Amino acid sequence: MKQKITVLGSTGSIGKNTLDVVARHPDRYEVFALSAATQVDLMLQQCAQFKPRFAVMASAPHAQLLAEKIKQNGLPTSVLQAQGALEIIASHEEVDAVMAAIVGAAGLSPCLAAARAGKRLLLANKEALVVGGNVFMRAVREGGATLLPIDSEHSAIFQCLPEDPACWAERVDSILLTASGGPFRTRAPETLAQITPEQACAHPNFSMGRKISVDSATMMNKALEVIEARWLFDLAPEQIKVVIHPQQIIHSMVQFKDASILAQLGTPDMRVPIACGLAWPERIESGASRLDFAALAALTFEEADVRRFPGLHLSWQALNAPEGTTAVLNAANEVAVEAFLTGKLRFDHIHAVNLATLDAVQPSKPDSLESLLALDANARVAAQRAAAALAL
Ligand code: NAD
Ligand code: MG
Repeated sequence: MKQKITVLGSTGSIGKNTLDVVARHPDRYEVFALSAATQVDLMLQQCAQFKPRFAVMASAPHAQLLAEKIKQNGLPTSVLQAQGALEIIASHEEVDAVMAAIVGAAGLSPCLAAARAGKRLLLANKEALVVGGNVFMRAVREGGATLLPIDSEHSAIFQCLPEDPACWAERVDSILLTASGGPFRTRAPETLAQITPEQACAHPNFSMGRKISVDSATMMNKALEVIEARWLFDLAPEQIKVVIHPQQIIHSMVQFKDASILAQLGTPDMRVPIACGLAWPERIESGASRLDFAALAALTFEEADVRRFPGLHLSWQALNAPEGTTAVLNAANEVAVEAFLTGKLRFDHIHAVNLATLDAVQPSKPDSLESLLALDANARVAAQRAAAALAL
């Protein structure tokens, strides 16, 4: 039986890579539903190629436009415009696996729907877990879902860990998340104020969405990944360490109680963790090129410089603060990055907005989707205020 897949965020970098892997295995997978925010033409192309049952767009005008084009082209896909359409395609009884590749907290609600419906949940959307925390993990447990990390570092750790999660606590000493250091790893800290969105989005090894590209440049991406790892692998914040490894060949490592370390390696290509998640525990062709050890000059490692990357440490700070603080940090960062990308905030003020928001918003322990969304909304208001005070 073919597995039916819903891809949330199919027009983004992870979404397109997912469809690339899926297209290599027409005998194993079929696309049940696709979703995107505004890219109607790309969505139309994807509908023509994969013939999903449903397509969802984030706004009514985009959905309307897509529906017209689908009709003109005689395609079988229905454009679903119902309230809660994302949750419907994430939890539909015919769906086996959901690729969560929406960017930001906007992906939380459909992720929770997939988790509650017991799906195989392929999680690229790290912000959903950073915001959802305990509530998210409880939904996974109670729904009987299988949560598989797609973030390359977390996929690496998952692949290095014993298959039985019951052994993790007694065997694992710590995990080492590797980080590329982004495009400004060696840039003089006093010049960070002049960085433009185009410079920040030019990542050395990966072509990614604009938000995660900026997060990689500030290393807030790694901060979010520390929080993501805390929940995925049920670790204490102090068991999670970060090391800069510019070549991005080692995708992350696990250190065991006896000081032995296992690492996962490969060419930096997101199709590898995507194929791993899709097929786990089996292995399928991903399309990625093989690592050529003879051509590798060196694998190097260094510590992250706190003057260049002050945001990195906010992850441990937020994890050790009252529950919900990570949701506040995520909302602040989403607002600050958007302000930077639209030319309203300096690059080095992203951190200032994050700090000011953490100071301004005291979370009350969120225990439901509604309370998480309310906290997210409050934090966004505070972050907007902080960003406006620093606006260019
Ligand atoms: P992207 O910007 O390229 O794509 C985002 C997708 O989400 C698009 O399809 C867009 O249409 C959709 N979308 C955006 N806002 C939406 C909204 N409000 N409602 C519904 N749909 C919306 O981003 P990306 O680089 O593919 O990243 C997606 C997620 O995967 C992020 O959470 C990111 O952190 C994570 N991730 C990405 C990479 C990577 O290499 N790109 C690696 C690891 C993790
Ligand atoms: Mg990553």
